[in-house]
Order: sequence, then C-alpha cells, then structure tokens
Amino acid sequence: MRILNRKTATFSLTLALLTGAGVGVATEPSTSAGWAFGCAAFLLTAGWSARSPIRRLLAVRRPLSPESARWLRAEFPFYRFLEQARLERDIKILLAEWTFEGVADMEVTDALKTAVAAGAALLLHGRPDWEWPARHAILFYPDCFDDTYAAGEEGEFDGMAHAQGPVIFVAESVRQGWKHPADGHNVVLHEMAHLLDYESAFADGAPSLVASESLAAWRELVRREIRRIRIGRSMLRRYAARDPAELFAVAVENFFERPERMAERHPELFAALRNIFRIDPLAWRT
Ligand SMILES: [Zn+2]
Repeated sequence: MRILNRKTATFSLTLALLTGAGVGVATEPSTSAGWAFGCAAFLLTAGWSARSPIRRLLAVRRPLSPESARWLRAEFPFYRFLEQARLERDIKILLAEWTFEGVADMEVTDALKTAVAAGAALLLHGRPDWEWPARHAILFYPDCFDDTYAAGEEGEFDGMAHAQGPVIFVAESVRQGWKHPADGHNVVLHEMAHLLDYESAFADGAPSLVASESLAAWRELVRREIRRIRIGRSMLRRYAARDPAELFAVAVENFFERPERMAERHPELFAALRNIFRIDPLAWRT
C-alpha cells in the first residue's frame, strides 16, 4: 500500500490539467479572466484528487492507540519477521479507511480491529504497490452464524467475505486464529484471501495477484491439489476441495502458518504462493 499511488497520481494530475485547460479555453472568449477560471478549475480538481493521499498522510502520522500497539507487538505472531514501520503504516491506513462494527451490541475493541487489519497488511506486505480493492466494512459477530446470518449454536460459519458487502468475522475465531499461529486455521487470512480473489471478475481461486502468464499453470496446479485432497494425499483440510476459491483460501492459511510442512509436501503450491505474495514464511522459521 502506498500513501500516494503513482498511477492514480498521474491520472489525477492529467485530469486536473485537462479540466483546467478545458475551462480556460471555454471561458476565455467571453471573459478576460478565462485563464483564471482555468487555474481555479485545475486547483479544485487537483485538490479533490488529493483528498485520499492527504487522509492517508494524516492517518499514518497519528500513533496507533496503546491497545492496538500492544496487541500488535505482543500477539501478532508475524510482527518480528516483517518490516515493522511499513506494517504499522499499512495497519494505520486500513484502520482509518475501513469501518468496523459489532452486531448485537458487541464491543469492537482496538485489539480486535487490529487483529483484522494486521492480517490484511500481512497478505500485501510483499506487494507494496498493491492495494485492497475498495474500502471495506468489517462486521463482528459474537457467535458462529448460519447462511441466513443468524448467530447461535446451529451456526456453521465463523467468517464470510462478500464481493460487494461486508466481511464478517466471529470475534472469538479471530482471536483464536492468531493465538494458534501454526495450526493452519486462521479465519482472517482465509476471508482476506477470498477478498483478494473477488478482485478479479469473481472468486475463482485465481486472484489478480497471479501474473497473467502464470494463470493457466496456476489453475492446473489448483486442479491437481483438489484431486490430492479428494484422494487423501494432501495436508490441506477437506474443505479446501469444495472449489478453487476455497483451495486458495485454505492454502493461504497453511502457507503462512505451516510453511515447512507445505514446502515439503506441496513444493509447487508453496512456490506458487511465494511468487504470488512475494514473501517467504519459510525463511522466518529458519
Ligand atoms: Zn472460504
């Protein structure tokens, strides 16, 4: 993530110049102040485009709340392996830009928000030029929920990502996910992986982080890995064999949490994910 994205900045500046020149040319014949109007239009358009980087700049200049900082340093298991200043900057941006709400009056603490933002920042830590596709709403449930979003004992989901709607998490599952960082289960990494996948046309297990020239090989690899699960020759849980999107999400959890085992048992999948995220969790272990 960047405070100022070069492509967006170039587009905004071009737009401001064209708008200013257009207004100047259009008004110049009827008034002697035509070019002054053009300059004003340029400044207004440029100022409008600068809102997002200015907001980001202000967000990163503010310190993390004491509770966020404590959670990050004491409870985020990957903290010491990452570039900490950049990680904290990305988390501040996400905390400022995403909305976090609890259902049924549940309290949403800074630690809980940070536990989600840290997972999102981790996934893009090796790809600093990438951005999360849009502003997101994060919704916390107090308990597991079913496919009608009713929470309770019958609930089978502890997280769910939507292309157009909020990402839902069960608060306790978020906490447990980071508390056990080597069991291959982490609902934040799982749902955020789905969110990356939604960035392409639809969730098909091939996020746009996969280079287009590698797409066919990646799809074939996913098909092979699903077959391996179905015949009981995979370290990935059976849920991952439901479809390519679930394979990708479960593989991401294991890539970060059980890299040694994955590199040994699924070397091709491990190498592909290392290329996608441009990060090597195996190096952290050694
Ligand atoms: Zn899933």
